[in-house]
Amino acid sequence: MRYAETGVHLEVDLSRGNIERVESDLGDTVHYLGGLGTNAKLLWDRVPPEVEPFSADNLLIFAAGLLCGTPAIGCNRTIVSTISPQTRLMAFSMMGGFWAPELKYAGYDKVIFRGRSPDLVYLWIHNGKVEIRDAGHLRGKGAIETAELIRAELKEPRAQVAAIGTAGENRVFFATIEQGRSSASRLGLGAVMGDKGLKAVVVRGTRDIHIARPAEYIQICNEVMAYIQWRNDHPIPGVMPILAGLGSPQEMKVHDEKWHTENFMWGNSRHRRKGFWNETVEKNWTRTMEASRTRLISCYNCPLKCGAAISMPGLPTYMMKCFSKLTYTMAAMSDLEFGLRIAQKATEYGVDAFSTPQVMAFALELYEDGILTDADMPDLPADNEERFHWLLDRIVRREGIGDVLADGTYWAAKAIGKGAEAYAHNNIKKHEQLPLKLSMLNPIYFLMYATGEKINITQIEGQFPQAPFPKRKQREEFVKDWIQVPHEKFKQYFLDWELRGEKSVPYYPTVEMCCDIVDWQERMHYIDDALGMCAGLSSFPLKPPYHIHNYPRLIAAGAGIDMDEDTLTRAARRYRTLVRAINIRRGMRRKDEKPPQNHWKKRFPELETQLLDAYYAMKGWNREGIPTNTSLASLGLDYVGADFVKRGILSDDAVE
Ligand code: SF4
Repeated sequence: MRYAETGVHLEVDLSRGNIERVESDLGDTVHYLGGLGTNAKLLWDRVPPEVEPFSADNLLIFAAGLLCGTPAIGCNRTIVSTISPQTRLMAFSMMGGFWAPELKYAGYDKVIFRGRSPDLVYLWIHNGKVEIRDAGHLRGKGAIETAELIRAELKEPRAQVAAIGTAGENRVFFATIEQGRSSASRLGLGAVMGDKGLKAVVVRGTRDIHIARPAEYIQICNEVMAYIQWRNDHPIPGVMPILAGLGSPQEMKVHDEKWHTENFMWGNSRHRRKGFWNETVEKNWTRTMEASRTRLISCYNCPLKCGAAISMPGLPTYMMKCFSKLTYTMAAMSDLEFGLRIAQKATEYGVDAFSTPQVMAFALELYEDGILTDADMPDLPADNEERFHWLLDRIVRREGIGDVLADGTYWAAKAIGKGAEAYAHNNIKKHEQLPLKLSMLNPIYFLMYATGEKINITQIEGQFPQAPFPKRKQREEFVKDWIQVPHEKFKQYFLDWELRGEKSVPYYPTVEMCCDIVDWQERMHYIDDALGMCAGLSSFPLKPPYHIHNYPRLIAAGAGIDMDEDTLTRAARRYRTLVRAINIRRGMRRKDEKPPQNHWKKRFPELETQLLDAYYAMKGWNREGIPTNTSLASLGLDYVGADFVKRGILSDDAVE
């Protein structure tokens, strides 16, 4: 008997139209947990580095996390993994909503696509019945529209649909997979789906899944729910709303955008607008949000309602979440009304709300500076907002200059030449990053940014506060109920952290402390991504209900895999290293682990070198960031070491 997971994968060969049910190996679950962990194992085993992102041999894996579909609150993430066309490294975006639990109820843990369909198709999974169906009539349809049409044609209003829009069909490098209440947005998963000729994956399930020790499991879930309710009634004092509670409902609920609009960059991630937020702006934006936000909505089995249904006059309703509320507005130096309107179109097209606005602002900056000309942009409207709509339409259809821009700022700049590379200034690992430009280097965030391989916004957040609290008394209050710390030393790190003086950034927390903190934050993200847990209830907020102390109990009672904190930490480290190994095998090295030059105004090259050196050493990686034979062997990843030696990445006796 398998617990929490079904023990069955669906293998779909789109070239041959073949579908197989394959039993998965329980040993892999024990070693790599599930979700991201077992996805990484599949990609390591089956997608060698020679395979191009747009190749029939690339895999596209939709995985439900290990505990998805169980009563664990907020455990609903689908982890989609493939090789990214943007970075040419492993991509693993997650989406919330309802899709992953539905897949479990249909009887499967993963759907693994390979090959490439000659015609546009969708996959329909209805419990034991699985079929590839024609999607020719859906070509060019929006992602949300597609979901509605498929539900109607199947007469299954409760089917969960993950679909691509025009951008995915046209292999735009930042195309998303949309799922109504969420999306897998980063790193161009939608482009790989489009390359495979797959318009949608549709699932409806009505089966049960088994829990190893149900009474104990429910008890833990009840404790989690009680904590969520308590935290909602007792926000953390002295921090901004988004850090005071759980999840990220604040963006849709709270109208005070002073912090984002004055600290994040506008335009092509260039300008900070101090003093932007005034009474008039606040009044207008509040009116816009309240008139368009028809209701707040949650993902499966979660009370937090982070998303909102947005209805702009004359446009279909769509779902919005988190910082995408502001990305289009700020890139276009416009207002919220514009941002909410263009986001509707962008959601239907299926494009990433972080990359897309930056790509468009980048193009307009090139145009203003004469690097792109009227010959490149014929008929470009005079009006600024219309220009963004014009560009978006061309990018998703890969028309004219849109074909170049559809590859993201890094590749577009190379293709355009004439100095355009200096304008693609906000990338890490060839990918657009948060539009941040702060003053003093924060060493913790330097490491999170530089070494992160998920390349999304939440990955760089965690349970250690982002800045010191001004007064020691506040810090003492904060650490009193900080039960989430994996070790008491973190409390001392925080207690001693000052705003100014010797114990302030960039030299405090010390290099060693920063490595510890990043290791903790990263570990929690990787555990969440294997279990299918929403980061908003675990690795993202300061004081979440799930943490390293209760996760082992939850996994043991749910999946029947005995765990303690050490074995869980080791498992997370194992598949974190495997993700690293996949990327190392694809050429990633230390030189790629550099936040944009102007992310912080004050940089400290020597300190940054020390931080990377110490972090790599702590992880058991050499100076290039390559896991050593010794560290690989200690995690049971000898096969990775052997492959590295065979490929000349490591020498036989390399220990560092
Ligand atoms: S915390 Fe928010 S994003 Fe996370 S599962 Fe709940 S509703 Fe969804």
